[in-house]
Amino acid sequence: MPCTIFCVGHPLIDMQVRQAEDLITKYNLKANDAILAGAEHEPIYEELVRERQVVYVAGGAAQNTARGAAYVLTKPHSVAFAGCVGDDDLAEQLRAANQREGVIDAYQVKKGQKTGACAVLISDGHHRSLVTTLRVAKDLDEGHLWSPTVAPLITSSKVIYLEGYLFTHRPEVSIRLGKKVSEMGKILVVNLSAPYIPRLYSAQIQEIMPYCDIIISNEAEAEAWAVSNNHAEPTNMSLVAKAIALHPKANPTPPRIVIITHGAHSTTVVCADKPDRPKIYPVPSLKEEEIVDTNAAGDAFAGGFLGAYVLEKSLDECVGTGHRLAAMCIGQEGPQYKWPNTRS
Ligand code: ADP
Ligand code: MG
Ligand code: MG
Repeated sequence: MPCTIFCVGHPLIDMQVRQAEDLITKYNLKANDAILAGAEHEPIYEELVRERQVVYVAGGAAQNTARGAAYVLTKPHSVAFAGCVGDDDLAEQLRAANQREGVIDAYQVKKGQKTGACAVLISDGHHRSLVTTLRVAKDLDEGHLWSPTVAPLITSSKVIYLEGYLFTHRPEVSIRLGKKVSEMGKILVVNLSAPYIPRLYSAQIQEIMPYCDIIISNEAEAEAWAVSNNHAEPTNMSLVAKAIALHPKANPTPPRIVIITHGAHSTTVVCADKPDRPKIYPVPSLKEEEIVDTNAAGDAFAGGFLGAYVLEKSLDECVGTGHRLAAMCIGQEGPQYKWPNTRS
């Protein structure tokens, strides 16, 4: 089946547990936080399976985005997701979510290895402490992307989407992929994903940037990029978006689009061909009771935006679709969309 959007990232299964106050104390975690598991946290995953009622939900930033884009699109447009998993139950659960939601699964499976997971420890009703163990997710091989089953998904796609977390391990795989697809005339989209990405992996981000046609970030990531690049006004989103838009680009067309979301605040968009005319889009406000879980709102936004983008909608409509998918994701526990999609 031809593919329209090809997403790459760390496949992770979210393991949600409620009333996790004791675990937060035991593992010395903060109630509202997101960390990579250290050796001291590793036993938590087994403990959850053994002793708790775990709700398994498909997660992983780019996979959330792929599922969001699939929600917006209907055939003949389709969305694929590539990442590295083990040959275990967790991979089966991720695969089932993709299948249910119409995402083509292009997983690399490593025998005897474990699929990445994110412990989502919910305390006092709405606090969330996320503890991620990447396991085999960090080991995606370049050869897999260009294998006979996966390469056609890339070559038929219009858009290639990379989550920023990819730049923490084996960045050369993502940078070479970005360069190659840009040379093929595809639209390369990168999400900065977390403030520590532009902060700690600034060199890798600089290396991929010339190939990027669209860059998506939230306000904290944009600020971190600006600080890493000695920008004079790192909290001025219009100016930071302009600086990212005007960063050197390998292909002169299309002009780069930079999108900075900011939670409930307005979303800022700057196109490189009109760098001094930022577009500011207000976010439709949500009532307190409509906000169930803001986790993965930005991933959902990216999915909505890209779905509309490949349908050749206007920029205004793409941002509007992004905001709608984000609101839908926020209205539910975990990164989920309201399937079945009765809209189409
Ligand atoms: P990230 O999840 O990457 O931090 P944001 O927090 O900027 O991304 O959220 C992305 C989008 O989700 C926003 O542009 C907005 O549409 C929606 N959103 C996030 N938080 C809220 C909120 N509190 N109220 C309404 N919409 C929100
Ligand atoms: Mg946010
Ligand atoms: Mg985000």
